[in-house]
Amino acid sequence: MNLLKLDQVDVGFGKSSIVDDVSFTLAEGEIGCLLGPSGCGKTTLLRSIAGFEPVRRGSIEINSRLVSSPAQLIPPEKRDVGMVFQDFALFPHLTVADNISFGIRNDSSSEQIQRVNQLLQHVGLAGYGNRYPHQLSGGQQQRIALARALAPRPRVLLLDEPFSSLDADLRESLATEVRGLLKSEGITALLVTHDQQEAFAMADKAGVMYHGRMLQWDTPYELYHEPTHHLVANFIGHGVLLRGTITADQKVFTPLGLLHGDEVPDNSAGELVDVLVRPDDIIIDEASERRAVIVGKGFRGAHYLYTVALVDGTQIYCMSPSHHQYSMGSEIGLRLNIDHLVLFPAGFCET
Ligand code: ATP
Repeated sequence: MNLLKLDQVDVGFGKSSIVDDVSFTLAEGEIGCLLGPSGCGKTTLLRSIAGFEPVRRGSIEINSRLVSSPAQLIPPEKRDVGMVFQDFALFPHLTVADNISFGIRNDSSSEQIQRVNQLLQHVGLAGYGNRYPHQLSGGQQQRIALARALAPRPRVLLLDEPFSSLDADLRESLATEVRGLLKSEGITALLVTHDQQEAFAMADKAGVMYHGRMLQWDTPYELYHEPTHHLVANFIGHGVLLRGTITADQKVFTPLGLLHGDEVPDNSAGELVDVLVRPDDIIIDEASERRAVIVGKGFRGAHYLYTVALVDGTQIYCMSPSHHQYSMGSEIGLRLNIDHLVLFPAGFCET
């Protein structure tokens, strides 16, 4: 069953349209993520789901109930949504336990105590109930903010950049922990983030937005391996779009040589296309006759991400285990490991 359903939603301020014709669904218990460049409308979309912004067109349903349409705006507190924001906003004068129980004050005190203790346990902070927010680290405060949002058992949890003020290591481990917690509580959640690793660690479904439009809503795997739009291909992960020409025998001639795959359309010889090439499509192989020169390298822990220039000057990326590193300017051989081709009509990548 779909817990969250957006159908052709438009949101705007004054004359500007900020969210444009967005549709997607999240099934019960699924975690979704909104990605996209700064200013593309992610937070505005999240705020419209929360009920803080009206929609100009389309509809939003939570648990099969219409909560937003041009004629209807159910207020935030009646939507059965919980929210966690970047700045935590814990009440500084309340203890951790009182912060968590803030949204369930109408429950009996024994129910409140039970729920607070259960959530403290879930977020790994059992025994912290009597502390005050300033006595906790940033990561601990964010866990409490999450526990507070979960206390009333909302049908949908909305998270806006919840980990962005934390350092990178903590962010990644917390993202994985929070996914486990949301799954164990069976909560349907939608997260806004800038961080693709965080999105990949948390999300069952993710969407890439550009100028208010949802270009693709899919699993993170599909976004990476099967982008349906060149802007998604550019935005997700590393990769380049190589200009190629379709040959008479249904291959694509590119600066990397001839590429082939079932995806090359029939009867299109001579057409120009752009082919997505990811770092994991390319293997450094000294024996290969396909030569290139290392022009950039970045340490990624287990791997180096190299930028290499092909003979005609075209630059692509490739990865190689970091225990064997190549120096800048060295000549290498490249082998292709492309199991399917992702093709776009030529020219879009310049927009
Ligand atoms: P970021 O990743 O930088 O947080 P975002 O994708 O979340 O960006 P939004 O915060 O939704 O983007 O903003 C989208 C656009 O809407 C921006 O151009 C912003 O200036 C504009 N905007 C947001 N809120 C308002 C408002 N209350 N009134 C007018 N314009 C607004």
